[in-house]
Amino acid sequence: MTFEFSDKADYQEYFGPAHNMVRRSVKEFVDKEIIPHVDEWEEMGEFPRELYKKAGDVGLLGIGYPEELGGTPGDIFFQIAAWEEIMRCGSGGVAAGVGSLNIALPPIIRHGTEEQKERYVKPVLCGEKIAALAITEPGGGSDVAGLQTTAERDGDDYVVNGSKTFITSGCRADQITCAVRTGGPGAQGISLLVIESNTPGYSVSEKLKKTGWWTSDTAQIFFNNCRVPFRNLIGEENQGFYGIMENFQAERLQLAVMANMTSQIAVEEAINYARRREAFGKPISGFQVIRHKIVDMATQVEVSREFTYRVAAKIDAGLNQIKEISMAKNFACSVSDKVTYDAVQIFGGYGFMRGYPVERLFRDNRVLSIGGGTTEIMKEIISKHIF
Ligand SMILES: Cc1cc2nc3c(=O)[nH]c(=O)nc-3n(C[C@H](O)[C@H](O)[C@H](O)COP(=O)(O)OP(=O)(O)OC[C@H]3O[C@@H](n4cnc5c(N)ncnc54)[C@H](O)[C@@H]3O)c2cc1C
Repeated sequence: MTFEFSDKADYQEYFGPAHNMVRRSVKEFVDKEIIPHVDEWEEMGEFPRELYKKAGDVGLLGIGYPEELGGTPGDIFFQIAAWEEIMRCGSGGVAAGVGSLNIALPPIIRHGTEEQKERYVKPVLCGEKIAALAITEPGGGSDVAGLQTTAERDGDDYVVNGSKTFITSGCRADQITCAVRTGGPGAQGISLLVIESNTPGYSVSEKLKKTGWWTSDTAQIFFNNCRVPFRNLIGEENQGFYGIMENFQAERLQLAVMANMTSQIAVEEAINYARRREAFGKPISGFQVIRHKIVDMATQVEVSREFTYRVAAKIDAGLNQIKEISMAKNFACSVSDKVTYDAVQIFGGYGFMRGYPVERLFRDNRVLSIGGGTTEIMKEIISKHIF
């Protein structure tokens, strides 16, 4: 089962020739700059910082962003094509690390001033600077409205105190889009600030050691009387919660796409392995139970991908898809949980060994139903739309 894209007219509902051109150029980049090194980076626990610059130079980071900020605008399927091809490297950590700008920049683009866009978007899209999004705190990630990092106004500055955790690209980030409490309790008291990592009072932990996503750096960030200029406020004071929720829609789409690609690669690996591995004198694909398992895996991936695309198309058309994107993320993650588990099973002992793609896919997959809102939080959102 391959995952081919064609330029035929009948397949242009989501991806036309222009999307496929972008897909091919991202594939070329991934084949040349990532795949030959990815196993080594995984073992080292990081990819070189210069990968951002290389990705920026070929325009990969700017896909879907405004031209005046150095991007190449286009509908959502240009980004989806790019994310899918990056996932082809088989490392969720590379995809998450390179892609942290996609959760950090949109609030600045939507609500930021021209000066903020100039200063905090352009250098990231060309790969000179690294951006991260910092919402989660050690005391809790799901309850965003309860966050406790404070930003108190003092003259022309905010004085920020508190900490954030599990921040993707947090160790290397030059800037974070950070959720802080500027007002009273609850959602009404939250704002978004851009905080530069060289600000006095800003410090970062060692890289956190994780089950998967080894190449992405994940950090805890501390603020100790960190003075951030008022001009770094994104949008209006105490309106940040809405910006965060708006941003989650795209993050959840990205995670659904990552889950679908994880499943896709796992199915392909399982098919190839089942064809060549022999047991009891014949390829294991000769056992009906293995074939049927793979058939179920392949079916679920197809269904999940098509649903994700449909929701993406509706988001692109400006429809509110809060419920549907939560469903798409949960469905894609339930499929990738099952498919990666079954792929490891089909590989037998080798599936448990480092160096086999399914082993990494299995580990990397686990976080997809936690990050960007857990399965349970997605269900809460869906239930609010149902009841
Ligand atoms: C590798 C990695 C990368 C990440 N990257 C980032 C990043 O770049 N930026 C960022 O801000 N965050 C990031 N996160 C954090 C992630 O978004 C949070 O881990 C997630 O939102 C859950 O928050 P929590 O871990 O505090 O769990 P908690 O909120 O403490 O939840 C614990 C458990 O309780 C359940 N639960 C909580 N509330 C409810 C409820 N109302 N109903 C039912 N069940 C509930 C949860 O589903 C979960 O199972 C990352 C996390 C990981 C692991």
